Formats: sequence, structure tokens, C-alpha cells
Amino acid sequence: RWDGIWLAGQRDTDPDTIFDKIVAKEISAGIVRETDDILAFTDINPAAPAHILVIPKNRNGLSRLQKATPEHVEILGKLMVVAGEIARDESLGFGPDGARIVVNDGPAAGQEVPHLHIHVIGGRAMAWPPG
Ligand code: ADP
Repeated sequence: RWDGIWLAGQRDTDPDTIFDKIVAKEISAGIVRETDDILAFTDINPAAPAHILVIPKNRNGLSRLQKATPEHVEILGKLMVVAGEIARDESLGFGPDGARIVVNDGPAAGQEVPHLHIHVIGGRAMAWPPG
């Protein structure tokens, strides 16, 4: 299985990513939701008028979605529920017509940070297929 250096200069096996620093509040971010085990914050390089990332606070092996096992079922379900809540929050810039909710898995998909994150992107119409 590929375990090279990610674009952000990190490895799958690194103990921490930049997202851990956001969780620890060592790096500031525009936090829009926080629960015991989930954090959602604005993407620093938004792909659309509204762009929120939803992450598990504790990566627990989930550097990418294909690392998921049955032990991750509960957190994955919670992440999806929060992603849906965010997508219907018009105060965050999402429209009533929906959003693009996506996980980039691995370098071929453009994943840069090896800590699972769900992109919730909206506020404009989306094209399909993605690039
Ligand atoms: P891609 O950059 O190709 O979308 P990912 O799926 O790994 O790759 O997404 C990582 C996302 O994290 C990017 O959209 C990037 O803009 C965002 N990001 C990186 N650093 C920060 C940060 N400090 N605060 C908020 N978002 C960040």
C-alpha cells in the first residue's frame, strides 16, 4: 500500500497532522461545529462560496477513508450526520438546492492531509464529473 510523502509534506504514519493542531487550538480556524469527537471548520482555500471540512478529532487510524474498519462505523456515521447538518445551514453560505459532499481518498484524488476529512462545498452550482 502506498505510504509516500503527501503533498503537504506528511506521511500516513506521522503522529500529527495540521488538523491535529487545529483540534488542539494551536492553529486558529473558523470553527463552525464542535462536538466531543468531531470538529468542523472553514477551509482555508475555499473551492466555492461555502466550503467546510468535517473531521474526527481523533484520527484513530483514519488517515484516509480506505483505512476504515468496522471499529470506525460509529464515527463515520456521526461525520455524515454533521456534514448533512452543515449542508443545510444557509448561514454558512449553503443554498437550498444542495451541496457537494466529498471525500478525497489518496493522492490520485488530490488528498493532501492524511487525516480523514469530509468536504462540504456549496453556494454555487457544481459540475459533474469532477476534474
Ligand atoms: P485538496 O487540497 O486537494 O482538497 P484534501 O482533500 O486533503 O486535498 O483537503 C485538504 C484541505 O484542507 C484543503 O482543501 C485545504 O485548503 C485545507 N486546509 C489545509 N490547511 C488548512 C488550515 N490550516 N485551515 C483550514 N483548512 C486547511
